[in-house]
Amino acid sequence: MGSGQVTDWQGKHVTVAGLGVSGVPAAKVLHGLGARVTVVNDGDDARAREQAAALEALGVTVRLGDGATLPEGTELVVTAPGWQPDKPLFLAAERAGVPVWGDVELAWRLRGTVPGKPVAPWLCVTGTNGKTTTTQMLASILRAAGLRTAAVGNIGVSLLDAVLGEEPYDVLAVELSSYQLHWAPSLRAHSAAVLNLAPDHLDWHGSMEAYARDKGRVYEGNQVACVYNVADKATEDLVREADVEEGCRAIGFTLGTPGPSQLGVVDGILIDRAFVENRRESAQELAEVSDVNPPAPHNIANALAAAALARAFGVPPQAVRDGLRAFTPDAHRIAHVADVDGVAYVDDSKATNTHAAEASLAAYGSIVWIAGGLAKGATFDELVARSAGRLRGVVLIGADRALIREALARHAPEVPVVDLDRTDTGAMLQAVQEAARLAQPGDTVLLAPACASMDMFANYNKRGDAFAEAVRELGAGA
Ligand code: ADP
Repeated sequence: MGSGQVTDWQGKHVTVAGLGVSGVPAAKVLHGLGARVTVVNDGDDARAREQAAALEALGVTVRLGDGATLPEGTELVVTAPGWQPDKPLFLAAERAGVPVWGDVELAWRLRGTVPGKPVAPWLCVTGTNGKTTTTQMLASILRAAGLRTAAVGNIGVSLLDAVLGEEPYDVLAVELSSYQLHWAPSLRAHSAAVLNLAPDHLDWHGSMEAYARDKGRVYEGNQVACVYNVADKATEDLVREADVEEGCRAIGFTLGTPGPSQLGVVDGILIDRAFVENRRESAQELAEVSDVNPPAPHNIANALAAAALARAFGVPPQAVRDGLRAFTPDAHRIAHVADVDGVAYVDDSKATNTHAAEASLAAYGSIVWIAGGLAKGATFDELVARSAGRLRGVVLIGADRALIREALARHAPEVPVVDLDRTDTGAMLQAVQEAARLAQPGDTVLLAPACASMDMFANYNKRGDAFAEAVRELGAGA
């Protein structure tokens, strides 16, 4: 199985690694195409057995409790993106010369197999933070241009459904994680953006270099544009290293004045100096900063990246503005919850790493910051040192709060800190009450924890909900 499309699946021995959100649909699709499918899965719990039974009823073989051994005769492995590349199964596949595809690669190879369905080009978005927001903004812009599209991949519609389902698309807005890119060797986007690069998931990739390399794959073979972040040189380096189609252009986005072949901001207006007739001398107005929701600096960067991809696809300026205006961010991403006593309460529970929290803190002038949770091996010195000037006070919650407290002691010793030593469900209410005590009119109380939530909450949604609930109680008592 080279890099082309596989048209004849009849009788092919395919091993699907991992039950779950990508494995089950992949197994079904491959089985439907006539492949002989074996699913291997490490776990053997009740849920896995239930899924296995449903697949076996279709005629798929399932092997529970052993995801390490490569079944005899395997010609192709299709893996769940999260499976780590150094697993014995993959080493065995490599030794046997058997290719390994992720869910994205599978979807890519199956494009064009549904008779009569148009083959939609992919506009791809990756990066450490801002992927979901940017992909949704992009879909909104494409929709405003009258194109049939969907936000797919890591979000919304699954890629397999988008490619094989009945719904016809003119173009897809595709969010890709670094894991998915690792397993998608032949993906060739129309255009793609890497929003930013900060250390994340390094345990999985093995090193920052390997993580960057996987992100950089999104540019490989691009046809029209490689969109990079002018403020993040690592993203530009990835463009330079990529092997692209003849004529494909490098397009930068910047919060400053754009140079030729860039999109940027001048006097509160988003400006395109890339997709205009004469980019040396002319520029095109796209939208106003106030059209971006919320107009925080990092989110304007997301909007510019989305606009660049849309413009690369030929979308007119008006649609960029209309699409940005029509866009509302998902919950818990810099969501304004309420104003109480002249203080704004903002929920950015989705800021689960330091890079995201730093962007969030940079959006406000005077902040009471609620932070803490599971640090996932992160250090907080840089974040605290860069944000110290904006902090009115800090309320710390969660398991690894001592790490943030120590960074605050080193870089912001004058900032008052309340350290909450409780992890029960009432802790967030107390955190918000303490934050309210520290805040002054005009300040923002910002939940941007820089940490994962699982020490205290089921997920970041629940953490954000608890915050919003606490703010409502505070407002009711005010
Ligand atoms: P992802 O899909 O990459 O996790 P989201 O769009 O869901 O990204 O945003 C996650 C969080 O990352 C947001 O809540 C915000 O705190 C932060 N964020 C969003 N965009 C950016 C950006 N361009 N740079 C830095 N941080 C960002």
